[in-house]
Amino acid sequence: QQPGQQPAQAKPLVPGVRAIIAVASGKGGVGKSTTSVNLALALAAIGRKVGLLDADIYGPSLPRMMGITGKPTTTPDGKTLKPMENYGVKCMSMGFMVAEDTPMIWRGPMVMSALEQMLRDVDWGDLDVLVVDMPPGTGDAQLTMAQRVPLAGAVIVSTPQDIALLDARKGLNMFRKVDVPVFGVIENMSYFLCPHCGERSDIFSHGGARKEAERMGVDFLGEIPLDIAIRETSDGGKPIVVSQPSSPHAAAYRAIAEAV
Ligand code: ADP
Repeated sequence: QQPGQQPAQAKPLVPGVRAIIAVASGKGGVGKSTTSVNLALALAAIGRKVGLLDADIYGPSLPRMMGITGKPTTTPDGKTLKPMENYGVKCMSMGFMVAEDTPMIWRGPMVMSALEQMLRDVDWGDLDVLVVDMPPGTGDAQLTMAQRVPLAGAVIVSTPQDIALLDARKGLNMFRKVDVPVFGVIENMSYFLCPHCGERSDIFSHGGARKEAERMGVDFLGEIPLDIAIRETSDGGKPIVVSQPSSPHAAAYRAIAEAV
């Protein structure tokens, strides 16, 4: 056992939830939330019962990306919160509790107790999979999530350039240290196809995540290009998997959903 690591029995199960998958990245801004949301919707599209937990307390993007407004209500017994729902996916996020421009000025222990509550005091019901959009990095919140939550596995999102891959490797190693299986790596913003001339540009390089996955001995789960349609749809609350289900991008997310 690693120093500071808690034993396995400190990971109580979430009743009714068959598998919890963490979507993580070493760095912010690589498209972790975009990937989490589209992966959750793709899992729903292939017939799974899906929940989505936004563990990014300081920068919750789930409400906007899932096109959800309003606040969750409590169940009749007052003991649990009912998750919000859109496109058939149950959602919980700190963003439902506070105004969008309100900063969460919280220290680690408060973040941890908020995460615990969003996980355990929410009426998730019967789920095949709960996708957790992790906060970026490998700090306190990430480590405690990895240690306290019975994760079935983690998916690492990275852009192809070296600096992002270096941080992705750290994220991957963190899960390994706490014995959480890593399902694989997704390369986001993998390349850019010019909508005008069709020419391809490898803006952040290309193929780095596949090589990194090989190097680290985990699966490469797929690549998603940099495409204005992906940004516009997810920032507009209708992610591409639901708004353009016949697009190649939606198919790519569904293929990743089949693989995890
Ligand atoms: P993170 O969760 O890693 O901080 P986000 O998912 O919030 O990153 O993405 C950051 C920004 O990049 C968002 O505006 C999002 O719409 C955009 N984005 C993410 N992935 C892509 C992509 N493949 N193509 C175009 N824009 C993307």
